Amino acid sequence: MARIALVTGGMGGLGEAICIKMAALQYQVITTYSPGNTRASEWLDTMAQQGYNFRAYPCDVTSYESAQECIKQIERDVRPVDVLVNNAGITRDMTFKKMEKVDWDAVIRTNLDSIFNMTKPVCDGMVERGWGRIINISSVNGQKGAFGQTNYSAAKAGMHGFTKALALEVARKGVTVNTISPGYIGTKMVMAIPQEVLDSKIIPQIPMGRLGKPEEVAGLVAYLASEEAAFVTGANIAINGGQHMY
Ligand code: NDP
Repeated sequence: MARIALVTGGMGGLGEAICIKMAALQYQVITTYSPGNTRASEWLDTMAQQGYNFRAYPCDVTSYESAQECIKQIERDVRPVDVLVNNAGITRDMTFKKMEKVDWDAVIRTNLDSIFNMTKPVCDGMVERGWGRIINISSVNGQKGAFGQTNYSAAKAGMHGFTKALALEVARKGVTVNTISPGYIGTKMVMAIPQEVLDSKIIPQIPMGRLGKPEEVAGLVAYLASEEAAFVTGANIAINGGQHMY
């Protein structure tokens, strides 16, 4: 029977590439979308036209209740989740001087609280079944900090601590927990940066001289979900074109 891969924020730039890659590997792919997302059915139709039979559930990843309800519904409709990809995230960039509490809270809740909210209802089941993969999408800016991103850098750095601590707790239970830290990937989130800023400030920081591709991150997700990656846990894998080495 196909394994179930749940990708939060699967309708976004990276999420879509992850859904497509996992489907190509014969996982049954389920994604979540924000309750306010009005283009969910259009996205599902477009994907169906390309031959992808995805399921999608509304879920506000900032809400523990919403996450619990979403997971229960997936278990009722399909089966328990085998691979959880915590991918949903937002930025709200501004200098610390300008940042309001609301900007801090929104980013911490969406990028960091979300991994508790989504992992909590699936983790015990993975442990009981003796197999599971939890893959958290962090960011290079959680490793090195970034100007105008105190909120985002803090949230993404927090994912590393969560990953390492939970990896220890479930290490003997067949469940791995890992973090991927992408550098600049050519998705909507990054393409919203003005071209002149990309050309003058961002690309020059990347030794490979280009943005990453969503498919390259999706390939790494697929590897971490695979049997071959069974001995990889508590890791933070960078994929950033050489922008930050540690
Ligand atoms: P997108 O903005 O394209 O996608 C983000 C996704 O998050 C959207 O699908 C959105 O869902 C979902 N989302 C946001 N808020 C919520 C919420 N409250 N509840 C449920 N879903 C929510 O971004 P990317 O694809 O570029 O980024 C994906 C992940 O990768 C993020 O965690 C980001 O921080 C990280 N990342 C991205 C990099 C890049 O260069 N692009 C670099 C490093 C990390 P919906 O569309 O339904 O609103």
